[in-house]
Amino acid sequence: MKAIRYSGPRRPLQLQEVPRRDPGPGEVLVRVTAAGVCHTELHFLSGLLDLGVAPLTLGHEIVGTVEAVGAGVAAGRVGERVIVYYYVGCGVCRYCREGNEQICPNLRAEYGFLSDGGYAEYVTVPSRNAVPLPDSISDVDAAPIGCGVTTAVHAAKLAELSAGEWVVVYGVGAVGFGLVQLARAWGARVIGVGRTAAKLQLARDLGAEAVVDASSEGAATRIRELTGGAGADVVFECVGTAESMTQASAALGRRGRLVFIGYSPDSFTVHPIQLVVFEQKVLGSVGATLQDLYDAVDLTARGVVRTVVDRTLPLERFQDGIDALDRGELVGKAVLLPAAR
Ligand SMILES: [Zn+2]
Ligand SMILES: [Zn+2]
Repeated sequence: MKAIRYSGPRRPLQLQEVPRRDPGPGEVLVRVTAAGVCHTELHFLSGLLDLGVAPLTLGHEIVGTVEAVGAGVAAGRVGERVIVYYYVGCGVCRYCREGNEQICPNLRAEYGFLSDGGYAEYVTVPSRNAVPLPDSISDVDAAPIGCGVTTAVHAAKLAELSAGEWVVVYGVGAVGFGLVQLARAWGARVIGVGRTAAKLQLARDLGAEAVVDASSEGAATRIRELTGGAGADVVFECVGTAESMTQASAALGRRGRLVFIGYSPDSFTVHPIQLVVFEQKVLGSVGATLQDLYDAVDLTARGVVRTVVDRTLPLERFQDGIDALDRGELVGKAVLLPAAR
């Protein structure tokens, strides 16, 4: 089968022929019909994220159809449309026991990170990781759910949002668009921060009551004004550069929660007196639980969240998608179509 192979930091991705792995006991073989391009791919290529596994097929936003099942899996799953949960935890550690496989220290697989992912015509995963997709969501529209929406659902839960709170979504990309919609649905008042007019307009369309263009105005000052001087109750930091982190932290109000999702080579600096006297919290959010994926699918099926796809590309044109993402020109996701019929 065809697959896009990563061979280490600062080396180009390549389209190659690789063997297809038959499903073992408890597994399903998924024919991949849609695979989202995530910012994480840029971190792999730059070397900022280096898990030491290569060669590797990237791609962790994976949608497809079950083509075959291994021993012990109901034959009725063949033909089912599914979206893949990309973590396979050890199943026995404290974090797995409480459903937090995304922080399992002994992952058995992580598709597109530690194990061959969805930039390929087929992927083989445990049956429980192949989550059913309702007919109301197309394969292409479902692709951004796999990481973009699930990451937003997970971060929104960690932030413990309350109705009426001021929520800043700093960075309106795939995760940011999900967060704007979720926070709005939670009853929060949402401010989107970005640098591109088209993305800021979309954030408004998706439910942000105000937007701030960080390229032309000081985000923290503007957020203070919009919140009557109080500052934000929650800031979702989806960018993670020195500038955005400084602005995000300065925009945070009393009992504010700063939730890191994005990152860059830059480090975060804050004087503890700010955290102490305002009783603020700084936390990180990575990936999602299996339950978050079920919730993300349900929220999308019910129209609470709408995914945003900028363009679709055949697998062979993966580089165009990655380059467009790198240049910041995508409004929503680029979605590859590895084995669409
Ligand atoms: Zn991702
Ligand atoms: Zn575990």
